[in-house]
Amino acid sequence: MLDFIIVGQGLAGSVLAFTLIRRGCKGIVLDHAKGNGASQVAAGLYNPVTGRKMVKTWKADHLFPFLENFYAQAEKETGYSFLYPQPIYRPFQDVEEQNDWMGKSSNNHFAPFVHHVAKESMFGEDIHDPYGGILLKQSGFVDLPVFIQGIRHWLQAMNSYRETLFDPQQLQIEGEAVRYQEWKARKVIFCDGTASARHHFFGWLPFRPVKGELLYIALEKPIEVIYNRGVFVLPTPQFCKVGATYDHHDLSQEITAKARTYLLEKLNILLKSKFELVGQVAGIRPATPDRRPFVGIHPAYKPMGIFNGLGTKGVSLAPYFASQLADHLLQGKALDEEVNISRYFQLYNRVIA
Ligand SMILES: Cc1cc2nc3c(=O)[nH]c(=O)nc-3n(C[C@H](O)[C@H](O)[C@H](O)COP(=O)(O)OP(=O)(O)OC[C@H]3O[C@@H](n4cnc5c(N)ncnc54)[C@H](O)[C@@H]3O)c2cc1C
Repeated sequence: MLDFIIVGQGLAGSVLAFTLIRRGCKGIVLDHAKGNGASQVAAGLYNPVTGRKMVKTWKADHLFPFLENFYAQAEKETGYSFLYPQPIYRPFQDVEEQNDWMGKSSNNHFAPFVHHVAKESMFGEDIHDPYGGILLKQSGFVDLPVFIQGIRHWLQAMNSYRETLFDPQQLQIEGEAVRYQEWKARKVIFCDGTASARHHFFGWLPFRPVKGELLYIALEKPIEVIYNRGVFVLPTPQFCKVGATYDHHDLSQEITAKARTYLLEKLNILLKSKFELVGQVAGIRPATPDRRPFVGIHPAYKPMGIFNGLGTKGVSLAPYFASQLADHLLQGKALDEEVNISRYFQLYNRVIA
């Protein structure tokens, strides 16, 4: 009998499979590999200080040291390169913001993530930064399509991957185990992104999908840090990614003129350098109402679990919480209550009542 069947090999399924197999588990990952999951278009940014008000992201002190170790380990095991640690530079809007950060940067709360606070322009050739800015560390990006490809080859070499469309109707619960076609396992874990919202096993969870779009641009002159104000401009080996938009209403996979106009307007405010627009992509983030992931075991079917709801910050959330789920499955350790799907069990009870 296998230890697990994982449904979906986007970011969530890849990180969880890698974590469980490295702890000695045996399993199979099923993915239909159509290439339209959120992970295939995501910019892959990890940023410890975010938002208009520049606050430390939730659990940053735990998540950020963990994530670089995780992806570096995965690079070593797979032989692929996908981790790009890179400073993020955020120009100040005015003298007030500059003063505010001169004070805040040395306090213990922010110090691990602040590389430098500049009172004068640091990157004036590329962007508008007359009041200086803040250079963050423990930041960068993961090239997610390459990460997923690397993990897929690693799984294939162990005969632990199958390209197939999982059909929920064919899943059978057999006592403490599950059976799906030729595979019997102790657990099935759903890592199928927004698809979980459409099947009855986990469709009762309150998914709040959010569409996102990115532009690809070619810059006249290469840049060495990630710029972030209004939009981010992220230099990859091929081109720069500019994003992102957030739309709760239009949940189609199509790119839109509205998003392009919005991103170009923000980009023109930030950037001085000339650029050429070379592409645009769209995807749907599997987000949640409280911005915390969905992790845990089904209230009625004990051999069934979920690792999902990674929302806008999958790159930083996935390694830490996959490890927590592995501790839970293998050692019975408690899950963080903020991510445990037990916080929504009353919704399941309403559905079956
Ligand atoms: C435009 C955009 C920009 C983003 N930028 C960032 C960023 O900079 N940083 C960051 O951390 N996050 C970012 N995100 C969010 C990030 O993409 C998500 O948090 C993450 O990719 C979610 O991964 P997932 O594996 O849960 O879902 P998905 O990537 O959607 O993966 C689900 C997988 O399940 C498979 N699947 C579904 N149903 C079935 C089935 N029936 N049978 C077999 N396989 C199935 C799919 O093929 C897919 O591979 C961005 C998202 C978007 C859209």
